[in-house]
Amino acid sequence: MTDTIERFDFQAESRQLLDLMIHSVYSHKEIFLRELISNASDALDRRRFEAVSNPDALPDGTELEIWMEPDTDGRTLTIRDTGIGMSREEVIDLIGTIAKSGTREFTQKLKESKESDAVDLIGQFGVGFYSGFMVADKMTLVTRRTGEETGTKWESEGDGSYTLEEVTPEAVGTAITLHLKPADAEDGMDDFAEEWKLREIVKKYSDFVAYPIKMNVSREEIERDDEGKPVEGAEAKTVIEAQTLNSMKAIWLRGKDDVTDEEYAEFYKHIAHDWTPPLATIRANIEGTLEYKLLLFIPEKAPFDLYMREGRRGVQLYVKRVFIMDDCDALVPEYLRWVRGVVDSEDLSLNISREILQQDRQIQRMQKGLVGKVLDHLKQLRDDDAEKYTKFWGEFGRVLKEGTYTDHEVQDRILDLCRFDSTMDDGEQTSLQSYIDRMKDGQETIYYMTGETREAVEQSPHLEAFKEKGFEILILTDPVDEIWTQSVHEYEGKKLQSIGRGAVDLDDDGDKEEKEKAAQEKAETHASLIEMLKNALKDEVKDVRLSSRLTSSPACLVTDEGDLSPQLEQIMRASNQPVPESKRILELNPKHPLLEKMQGMYDADKDDAQLNDYAELLYGQAALAEGQAPSNPGRLAKLLAELMVRA
Ligand code: ADP
Repeated sequence: MTDTIERFDFQAESRQLLDLMIHSVYSHKEIFLRELISNASDALDRRRFEAVSNPDALPDGTELEIWMEPDTDGRTLTIRDTGIGMSREEVIDLIGTIAKSGTREFTQKLKESKESDAVDLIGQFGVGFYSGFMVADKMTLVTRRTGEETGTKWESEGDGSYTLEEVTPEAVGTAITLHLKPADAEDGMDDFAEEWKLREIVKKYSDFVAYPIKMNVSREEIERDDEGKPVEGAEAKTVIEAQTLNSMKAIWLRGKDDVTDEEYAEFYKHIAHDWTPPLATIRANIEGTLEYKLLLFIPEKAPFDLYMREGRRGVQLYVKRVFIMDDCDALVPEYLRWVRGVVDSEDLSLNISREILQQDRQIQRMQKGLVGKVLDHLKQLRDDDAEKYTKFWGEFGRVLKEGTYTDHEVQDRILDLCRFDSTMDDGEQTSLQSYIDRMKDGQETIYYMTGETREAVEQSPHLEAFKEKGFEILILTDPVDEIWTQSVHEYEGKKLQSIGRGAVDLDDDGDKEEKEKAAQEKAETHASLIEMLKNALKDEVKDVRLSSRLTSSPACLVTDEGDLSPQLEQIMRASNQPVPESKRILELNPKHPLLEKMQGMYDADKDDAQLNDYAELLYGQAALAEGQAPSNPGRLAKLLAELMVRA
């Protein structure tokens, strides 16, 4: 045993974060307790789980519990658990570093946020332990890990550094002592050493915690006789006894209607490490060959790590009410990675490990059941509560859409839930069904256009003829839209077609035959000019042809049937995937005067060097018109300037 105390500095970012947190949250300071209890409960879960494979981790007679130890005179509050504890390395790693992922992002958001949001942010980014500094000017943590003989004492005044010291705690587990700031009601600083206050906070935030949260409480006891009457003249005695402050009831075992919304909300906050109540709660008891219970939540806001590869994912798995693991990702497909909650199975083995989960047939069937329940619920939400549904879609729609190509079994069900921008949406997104309801007589195709932004799509020349003829176009601007549209080709018997891809035939009025004949003639008139352009642009495009989708622009670029769109190419490049070489097609507007002008130049002198410049300009501005950077912007600018001088 050594008695050396080592001092460590927090990283600059952590320091800044700590400072902001201590000074920007004034209300609800009591939530620090929920966070510390939640950490203790996680540590107890982990110890119990470790004991499944290593019984030594939990010797007989060890109680798994949490103690509140207030000291009113010394003005401290200790939260002690008999959980798994931490090794010295873990203390440095887990406690010495605040909110490892996304600290910068968090600090930024905290700076910009209103105070009420600051509380949400603290929870989302997992700086729970440090919320203790909202009420304490010093925190001491003493911990000993299962399997280790000595322990570690960590101490900090939240000022930029902490100390570590080797100690020898009697038992495995963690004790966190808060040296409380003076109580000051005006500053939201309640007296957190008061018995009744602690009782109130535990009941409010942590009632469902599955381990007893105990506290020694004192009670005045008057001596009574055999009949239960107070003995006259006897003095009251102070009796101290341990009391369990929480009911510990697994909330998903209680009758659906016996649980209040507040209780669901608190439970959700506990398991999701969120501070905002959930948007929706889903409960189901599945019976039959497989029996399991679901208590699932849709968060109100997308977590910050929703799009991170290492983002948190999955639900808690219980087997016959015994906690097995957190973040069980085998139970939820990627596209539902935002779902939080609990799955309690009657059939799985308690020894089930993460490795075999992925292949387990029962787990796969449970996953299907879970997906079904979530999609059912979303459908109901869509039909019954449009406002909530819109909120949901705004936060998670992009992720849900991934399911259309990763899980073919539910493709149609997800398409039913999708919402899209459209050229006729009046500020509200549309469903595919409403699009179909608005289709023109005889229209058999659902038209869409993908692009980076709504503005880019709306300005793109491809839309011109469609708009003029009154067709509605869905505007798809999420990167994931580029992907799902590759594998979804039909909805409710209607073809889905990109208006930036392949050939289109919009001539639905007038004499078709006559029009075709006219188009044919037009093509023949310009055949040699087009051939010349094709040659001039052979490195850029795979074909040049006359278009039926343009009304006012002279040209546009389209993607050939079966080729990758430029946006998809970008996505693939960004994720370091090999991108096959593909060129696009330049379509010219047969009604545009520019074509006639070029034809005139060509007829006068088919070797006119200016025609090559025109070809380049046409190509460059077609790229610009759809929001793409032209392949050689400098050259395009120069050609334009020359043209302006000549004009
Ligand atoms: P979060 O709980 O959101 O991960 P915290 O800052 O509250 O963030 O805690 C960081 C980590 O420290 C926890 O994930 C856990 O691994 C560890 N930890 C905190 N409290 C305890 C405890 N009482 N017992 C064991 N480990 C703990």
